[in-house]
Amino acid sequence: MQVFAATILFPAIDILISLTGNKRKHIYMATKTAPIDLADSFEKIPVKIYPDLKEGSRFVAQQIADLIRAKQQKKEKCVLGLATGSTPKTLYAELVRMHREEKLSFKNVVTFNLDEYYPIDNKALQSYDRFMRVNLFDHVDINPKNIHIPNGETRKEAIKAHCSDYEKKIKEAGGIDLQILGIGNNGHIGFNEPGSGIYSKTRLITLDTSTRIANSYEFANISEVPRLAITMGIGTILQSRKIILMAWGSGKAPVIKMAAEDDDNEHVPASLLQNHDDVTFVVDEAAASELTRNKSPWLTGDCEWTPKMIKKAVVNMALKLKKPVLSLTNADYNEYGLSDLLVEKGDAYEINLQVYYLLRDSITGWPGGENLIPICLTTRNVQIPTRRKSSSSLPTRMMTSSAWAAPFSVCRTRDMRFMLATRPAGILPLPMNL
Ligand code: PGA
Repeated sequence: MQVFAATILFPAIDILISLTGNKRKHIYMATKTAPIDLADSFEKIPVKIYPDLKEGSRFVAQQIADLIRAKQQKKEKCVLGLATGSTPKTLYAELVRMHREEKLSFKNVVTFNLDEYYPIDNKALQSYDRFMRVNLFDHVDINPKNIHIPNGETRKEAIKAHCSDYEKKIKEAGGIDLQILGIGNNGHIGFNEPGSGIYSKTRLITLDTSTRIANSYEFANISEVPRLAITMGIGTILQSRKIILMAWGSGKAPVIKMAAEDDDNEHVPASLLQNHDDVTFVVDEAAASELTRNKSPWLTGDCEWTPKMIKKAVVNMALKLKKPVLSLTNADYNEYGLSDLLVEKGDAYEINLQVYYLLRDSITGWPGGENLIPICLTTRNVQIPTRRKSSSSLPTRMMTSSAWAAPFSVCRTRDMRFMLATRPAGILPLPMNL
């Protein structure tokens, strides 16, 4: 765990620091040019947040159904770009339900799937060809001739022609009306792995090791996960008239933040969607948890300073500045964007103490959490900032880990798990799930 903290946690914190620095730049630029809604100012792509994946999937299914019906009324084909993976399964189940219970017909629907492993037998358990049949096509009235999925059985020498033919078929169908996407933990859309260019077209691509690991649950072991895949390109996807990207669960939270808030770049292919003018991210609350408006709402507009919010803000700041809570200064609060809190509550000294007591009072003893290093708390003398006249009960000693020689111990409080880092000036809480 100690090695984990040193090698994983601190670099992660550094990344967060640099990301936050980046965001401030945007606030500055945005406020200079035009009045903006600060609550949304960090998201360069609209993000709709639903309580869970069921509600989010229902919303997307309704969008698709509305589009199909609108096209039916005009006697037009509805061209859908479809995704595979765990993300769209609930969406497809909802579409099947709508077909059965609400007479949603797919007769005018033409589909183009994003990708397919290569090589793979179309009938293999893991093929996306089979996935689509099992999860959607076998249960609705779509014309099989209208289904298009990159063919994992194509001979290698025929792949280029197959890919350009795929592009041609999309064009002949009139282009994609609505493209549905999932997102990989590494930011891929389709199988456009990091580094994929904004103009890329349908092509053969080498899968990232991270993607092969993520998808290995579908195979007997990782060595059976194909090393290649055929994927629509980013350029192909961006030509769609409308795009909806879905993401569920906290595992997707960091990449959703990067794709929606950071500057677009090829290392996070989904961020290239910022270049499209009708794209929406539909996510559940867990996948939205790293967005600045959730994680640090004080940075995006007015916020109600409840004790919980104060604790969250101050602990985040301590983490980023790598300072003990009791050592935070007025200047730190101002620099970190917490001047509102400072004005409302007086000064840093008072707020620090409030947060210190909140943290102290929330520490529980054993059980410190399953699979965690048990913690044995003792008190040790730690230097406290000089007492001010106005303050009453100052702690004279602070709780730190008894394992003084070891830099970290882990414990769990009532509402968060954190590491206690022994520092000369006191507790530096390093939350693991803030
Ligand atoms: P997942 O994969 O839906 O299985 O999370 C999404 C993707 O890799 O695009």
